[in-house]
Amino acid sequence: MLEHLKENVIRIGRSAQREGLCKHKSGNFSILDPETGYLVITPSGVDREELKVDDIIVSDRNAHVIENLTGLKPSSEMLMHIAIYRERPDVRAIVHTHSKYATVFAVLGKPVPPFVYEMMALNNPAQVIPVAEYGRPGTVELAEHTAVAVKSADAVLMKAHGAVAVDSTDIDGAYLKACYIEELCEMYHHALTAGGGEPPVLPPEELCKWAYPKEITF
Ligand code: 13P
Ligand code: ZN
Repeated sequence: MLEHLKENVIRIGRSAQREGLCKHKSGNFSILDPETGYLVITPSGVDREELKVDDIIVSDRNAHVIENLTGLKPSSEMLMHIAIYRERPDVRAIVHTHSKYATVFAVLGKPVPPFVYEMMALNNPAQVIPVAEYGRPGTVELAEHTAVAVKSADAVLMKAHGAVAVDSTDIDGAYLKACYIEELCEMYHHALTAGGGEPPVLPPEELCKWAYPKEITF
């Protein structure tokens, strides 16, 4: 069931691995099917290059597996995915990574400020990447803390762990935000080290004003 969604989960999981966002089997990916209310999610601890469509698990939102054709366990972070879908009924897909620069700031518990224009791609009116409170991986505590942070931001860091990105349309949108998180964290790291302190920030209102130039007609 839900083959098309399973294929999309695999496609994005492979891209994330090839781009270096989820090395060594870390991270997980899911899509919500609004018709059934089920989610399709990656299995726990499987290399993305080896994943097959039948390995992707279908679960309901009480963490009861509906279908796992090859008998693999669902991601150990499935409670987090379920908690996010509960707290953000608009969300259709979730990408969780341990990408390197994002995890550096997650370890430091340091939110990323609006220092560059790309921040506006993350759909957060506050124009920051916040840090969710700590919870041990796989626990209800982590699930709840991450879901609270995602209530007001599509892209968040998870204290001492990694990052999560969500999208209201599809998994490509969530993946793009996961890429932006990593890129912004890398740029922030370089700005901090090259400048010897906090870089200047842009007012959030300035970032919110971006619009396609009206002088261009097409
Ligand atoms: P899974 O392989 O169980 O999805 O876990 C990876 C992970 O990122 C744990 O936080
Ligand atoms: Zn993780």
